[in-house]
Amino acid sequence: MVAATYVRDTVRFSLLREAAALVSARGGAGHQCQARDPHNGPCLSKADVKLADSMGDKAWVCLAHVDEILLMVPEAFIASEDGRGLAAFLSRS
Ligand SMILES: [Zn+2]
Repeated sequence: MVAATYVRDTVRFSLLREAAALVSARGGAGHQCQARDPHNGPCLSKADVKLADSMGDKAWVCLAHVDEILLMVPEAFIASEDGRGLAAFLSRS
C-alpha cells in the first residue's frame, strides 16, 4: 500500500505543479497567498494556484496551502481560467 499511496500523491502533486506552471506562464498570479497560518497570520508566500468551491468562493493560494486545502476541504477544486467557462457552454446554440 505504501507504493500505491506514493504514486497517488505523486500524481496529485504533479497536477498542482502543472496548474501552478500554467499560472506562472501567464505572468503569475500577482497575488500573495490568501490563506492564513494556524496562528491567524497571513501566509507570506506568493500565490501559485486559484482554488474555488461549489458555493462560488475563490482564493489564490501557495502550493503548500493548496495541498492542505484540497485535503481539508473536499468541496474545493483547482479553478481554471482557460477556456470560455460554463456560461459559454450553456449558451451554445
Ligand atoms: Zn500559503
